[in-house]
Amino acid sequence: MGDLLAPILDSREFILSRQLCTLFFIVFHIALTFWTYRDADRRGAMPWFWALTVFIFDLAGWIIYLVIRPPEYAEDVRERDLEIRAKENALTRQMETCPNCQKPVESDYLICPSCMKRLRKPCIECEKALKLSWTVCPYCKTKQ
Ligand SMILES: [Zn+2]
Ligand SMILES: [Zn+2]
Repeated sequence: MGDLLAPILDSREFILSRQLCTLFFIVFHIALTFWTYRDADRRGAMPWFWALTVFIFDLAGWIIYLVIRPPEYAEDVRERDLEIRAKENALTRQMETCPNCQKPVESDYLICPSCMKRLRKPCIECEKALKLSWTVCPYCKTKQ
């Protein structure tokens, strides 16, 4: 059997294809290491550590990385945090609070329902809630 295979094993084609295979695995290994570095970097998960792990343990290291890597890209997390903060800001900007007890009040409350502090006055003409400092009603132009 060995004698039969010998000419094949020694042939230029076989040696060449074996070298190509080796080259392929080296390229694949480098690509895998590089991909892991990029992916871990985007997810904010110790890119050098994971690139090194994949470099040393190859596919085994890569599979471990796939299992325990953070599920989201760091960019997405940051974006979502910004979105939430913007929404919170919008909410607090809309929400007025009583200057006396700091409880939330609607913009058309005449008094604070919690501490009874006078917040606004009704327009003498249209009865819309006006700020205490306003001397004219902006809705119906009546002087107060
Ligand atoms: Zn109050
Ligand atoms: Zn008015």
